[in-house]
Amino acid sequence: MLAVQNAHVEFRVAQTKKWPWSPAGVVHAVNGVSFDLEPGQTIGIVGESGCGKSTLIRSVAGLTPLASGTVTLDGERVQYDNRASMQRLRATMQMIFQDPIASLNPRMTIREIVTEPLSFFRPEMHIDKRKAAALAMLERVGIPPAQANRFPHEFSGGQCQRIGIARSLVAEPKVLLCDEPVSALDVSVQAQVVNLLKELQREMGLALVFVAHDLGVVRHISDEVLVMYMGAQMERAPAADLVRAPKHPYAQALLSAVPIPDPTVRIAPQMLEGDLPSPMELPPGCLFASRCPHAMTKCANAKPPMLHRDGHEAACFLLEDTPEELDASLEHH
Ligand code: SF4
Repeated sequence: MLAVQNAHVEFRVAQTKKWPWSPAGVVHAVNGVSFDLEPGQTIGIVGESGCGKSTLIRSVAGLTPLASGTVTLDGERVQYDNRASMQRLRATMQMIFQDPIASLNPRMTIREIVTEPLSFFRPEMHIDKRKAAALAMLERVGIPPAQANRFPHEFSGGQCQRIGIARSLVAEPKVLLCDEPVSALDVSVQAQVVNLLKELQREMGLALVFVAHDLGVVRHISDEVLVMYMGAQMERAPAADLVRAPKHPYAQALLSAVPIPDPTVRIAPQMLEGDLPSPMELPPGCLFASRCPHAMTKCANAKPPMLHRDGHEAACFLLEDTPEELDASLEHH
């Protein structure tokens, strides 16, 4: 349904502390990420703040330009500079955003907000049918149709996210990009929204891309998890396998910080030391080398290839060197 191949995103920024005529610097925000997704499947994208996960899905949606790489949607390569291709993309792929209140127009009633996508994608539909479809969708996400003439500020954050979900799904897209959709909500409301997304996915056969920095939430909703660091893919594996036995040292450190709801299990979070490299001057070797507790000499000079092992895909030299001992040392949880 969705295939992203070798996606790169760059931002040009003015250089500070240099001469005014110095060339602009380039921030390498996303560095060669690839993944694919079947109908009804969810891929979770995790990583610390600033690792490029939101930028990646914004570029897939066409909101931020891709510097290079390809996106194939429902068998057709997306051409971001072609109007017809973008219209097909918008009808097939929708997005929900991190801030549910800011993502709704405060001057429109929620009925107008949810009806609007049908005006774009189903202009042939009679206006009464559009309104009826919008009310049915609002009811499906748990908003009573009697409240449809209210404005967004009259709803809580969790209800606004439900309205955002109704807006994105009313025209029946096949792919839904979720950009940290629950991080602004209370924990109990997070669970309700995640369960609602799972139900709607089952009913509509949606392919979901779910970005979050909370691995607990991602583990609950995802079939597969992709771990990003400095804009690059560190590891990708089925969610249960990645949580049980991560192969990449960065995934291991990230998972060690996830609280486990069992008082008998104690895992000391791994503190990563060392500085992150500048995204404007990426190192020639492994991007994680400056903080990796297992770093070797070659890690600073050569890029680790993406290696496959036991269903995991990880960019780390350790996977080719001493696999058995490494597995024992990395296995946790
Ligand atoms: Fe650490 Fe080297 Fe593996 Fe990078 S390639 S994660 S520096 S061991």
